[in-house]
Amino acid sequence: MNYDVIVIGGGHAGIEASLASARMGVKTLLITILAEQIGASSCNPAIGGLAKGHLVREVDALGGEMGLCTDTTGIQFRTLNASKGPAVRGTRAQIDMDAYRIYMRNVVLNTKNLDVKQELAEGLVVEEGAVKGVTTQLGNTYVAAKVIITAGTFLNGLIHIGDKKQVAGRQGEFASVELAEYMKGLGIEIGRLKTGTCARIDAKSVDTSVMEIQPGDTPAPPFSFRTDKKNFNPTQLPCYITYTNEDNT
Ligand SMILES: Cc1cc2nc3c(=O)[nH]c(=O)nc-3n(C[C@H](O)[C@H](O)[C@H](O)COP(=O)(O)OP(=O)(O)OC[C@H]3O[C@@H](n4cnc5c(N)ncnc54)[C@H](O)[C@@H]3O)c2cc1C
Repeated sequence: MNYDVIVIGGGHAGIEASLASARMGVKTLLITILAEQIGASSCNPAIGGLAKGHLVREVDALGGEMGLCTDTTGIQFRTLNASKGPAVRGTRAQIDMDAYRIYMRNVVLNTKNLDVKQELAEGLVVEEGAVKGVTTQLGNTYVAAKVIITAGTFLNGLIHIGDKKQVAGRQGEFASVELAEYMKGLGIEIGRLKTGTCARIDAKSVDTSVMEIQPGDTPAPPFSFRTDKKNFNPTQLPCYITYTNEDNT
């Protein structure tokens, strides 16, 4: 099957790349491990924050979907460092992770010029030093003039839980091992960045009445320039802060 552009990966980056390509009228294919998980956040439900908030706004200014999706599915909006100078402020939203994923998946599946295949990309078709397509674990070959790889945290993914290690993209999802090996074979150096995340706790098991409450801002700052600021009034949930040592640091 022939395409103009193939995007590998249906995470935040792959969604924006495939939407931008398809919306420009270019025949695009998105190959992703689980179509159900298009737009899934790998972990915490935070969008934006310092530095990353600027990135979300830049994606939005270029016509991307992330800001609009966040404004639709956000459950808390705050301007971080609001008491400090403008250079260090950042918008951050907490999202409903399920609602965010479903919104994104619907947008992707209903975009013209964009096909989605639920497959694991294993390698590239390379001819005379130029990429010509993608091969998958099911034995399919998809041809395209351009291939964009947004395999994210899945590329050679490894999860540590306490002392245990497991090869996985996200918990319960395949890692992208073959593609990493293939890229290594092309002479591309493959590394791994580490990210740590706190333990998940059951809200019913903690006493929030003794914690510091952190409400969202009123008025709530939306992410997208296309969201009507005047009528932006999302239902916001509070965050609760606690500390693990006595000097509260
Ligand atoms: C534990 C953890 C906590 C995090 N917490 C936050 C947070 O709170 N806020 C924040 O902003 N960022 C957070 N991040 C970082 C954030 O998840 C990443 O920056 C972001 O997901 C990167 O987006 P991406 O599209 O590049 O990749 P990903 O979101 O990792 O998406 C990669 C996609 O590629 C697909 N894929 C991979 N390999 C293949 C293949 N061979 N074939 C087909 N499909 C493939 C996967 O199925 C997936 O859909 C966290 C990351 C982790 C791991």
